[in-house]
Amino acid sequence: MSAKKSNGRKRVLVVGAGAAGMSAAHHLAQHPEKFQVTLVDSVNYCGGQAFAVPIDKNKHGASWFNQGVQGGSNIFHHTMTMFARQGYHADPVKLQVSFGKDEMFWNNVFPTELLAKHQKEIKRFATVLKIARWFEIFFALMPLKLMLKLFFFSDEFINFIALPMTALFLGTGNATPETPSIMLERLCTSPTYGMWYPADKQSVASNLPPMVVFPNFSDFYETWRKSLVKNGVHVRLSTEMTSVVKRDKDGVVVSFIKRTPVESNHNPVSGDTDSPDNHDPANLPSEEWEEEYDELILCVL
Ligand SMILES: Cc1cc2nc3c(=O)[nH]c(=O)nc-3n(C[C@H](O)[C@H](O)[C@H](O)COP(=O)(O)OP(=O)(O)OC[C@H]3O[C@@H](n4cnc5c(N)ncnc54)[C@H](O)[C@@H]3O)c2cc1C
Repeated sequence: MSAKKSNGRKRVLVVGAGAAGMSAAHHLAQHPEKFQVTLVDSVNYCGGQAFAVPIDKNKHGASWFNQGVQGGSNIFHHTMTMFARQGYHADPVKLQVSFGKDEMFWNNVFPTELLAKHQKEIKRFATVLKIARWFEIFFALMPLKLMLKLFFFSDEFINFIALPMTALFLGTGNATPETPSIMLERLCTSPTYGMWYPADKQSVASNLPPMVVFPNFSDFYETWRKSLVKNGVHVRLSTEMTSVVKRDKDGVVVSFIKRTPVESNHNPVSGDTDSPDNHDPANLPSEEWEEEYDELILCVL
């Protein structure tokens, strides 16, 4: 056990240096008289899923792109504030988005065959949104798939139009059919957070929602890591938590192993025996050790 009680301050371990872990560490570090913060991540960089990939500027016209995580809505006040505190900003865009391919292709910029084919349902959808608003007490928790079936929408309209336009904003993936109907209703009728506001009787969504695109995540998170270190946070990368040995009213005991960064920087967790990276002798996990803390925050997704 290497961590020691620290002048009456709580020793807090934050596991995972993605957006959530960085935020937790940042806010706790504002109270150095109360907390001594340790932030660990099994990979050798901060940012988790949010990272940039360098590319050839001569070939592509840009020297980097953000992988996966691209941007968000103007209501992401906390995210924008965090960017600004580190000297970064998100740029405004008018979002053009396309779904599906071939005969299932549609977008929010111009009409396509799929939208023409479902004209009647698109019109009905605008009416259903009104009904859902009038009787929102019934629709608030009703699963989206049930509401769409109740109003006789076709499987094609549900699976290729209604569910994707909901999933894009909520990030609910395969669980989208189970989301409450009122979420889609609000996405189309709320002037503040409604990505698809106002609903369009001809093409479902044609509003080019005002959004923001995020800055270079690798640069941003590295700057933020340095600022956390400056504010007294112990940032320990390439350090994987393997188990919570004990967690009760007296505190927590966790075990760790050291990880050797893989070439891509994205070490899979050591338990993932299917990953070829975990069979590389250069990346074998080190010996396990235990540490004791007062509080544990798991931000591992
Ligand atoms: C393809 C894709 C596109 C997305 N696009 C957007 C977008 O455009 N806009 C938007 O706002 N959001 C987007 N998101 C969602 C966004 O990426 C996530 O909500 C956010 O990055 C999650 O941050 P997190 O800190 O919760 O988790 P993560 O970023 O996953 O961080 C978890 C961290 O925990 C570490 N970890 C895990 N296990 C251990 C362990 N045992 N010991 C030590 N460390 C461990 C991992 O290495 C990782 O760094 C997208 C997500 C994906 C996958």
